[in-house]
Amino acid sequence: MTTRSEREKAQKLNEQHQAILTKLLREEDNKYCADCEAKGPRWASWNLGVFMCIRCAGIHRNLGVHISRVKSVNLDQWTPEQIQSMVDMGNTRARQLYEAHLPENFRRPQTDQYPPAALSYNVDPIHNGNYIFLSKTLHMQSW
Ligand SMILES: [Zn+2]
Repeated sequence: MTTRSEREKAQKLNEQHQAILTKLLREEDNKYCADCEAKGPRWASWNLGVFMCIRCAGIHRNLGVHISRVKSVNLDQWTPEQIQSMVDMGNTRARQLYEAHLPENFRRPQTDQYPPAALSYNVDPIHNGNYIFLSKTLHMQSW
């Protein structure tokens, strides 16, 4: 059973978290989906520290929680650790880190291309010592 003051405390914390997330989303870094660059992402992978669109969030969910932990920016409750992960990383830094070793022929997925359901995911977590963010796109059937 939670007391009234505990509920109020939780609510206040939630409001603080929402304010931080809203601020992060206003930064140039995070105005576009980390994966497909769709405008105005409202979802996030808190363990990777990136913001993404609802469509890419669905793809990340399919990758499994051992790779990406997806949350809605405004529909879900966040913990302080999850918020800190977003503050520490952000889309630009994440892309520098996870996409440091992409092959030359890598092409970023586009929002209006290929239905995600048509993809066969083949996740390769380790590549040249770095986890390849977006490794799903490296294994598309058309390649
Ligand atoms: Zn996207």
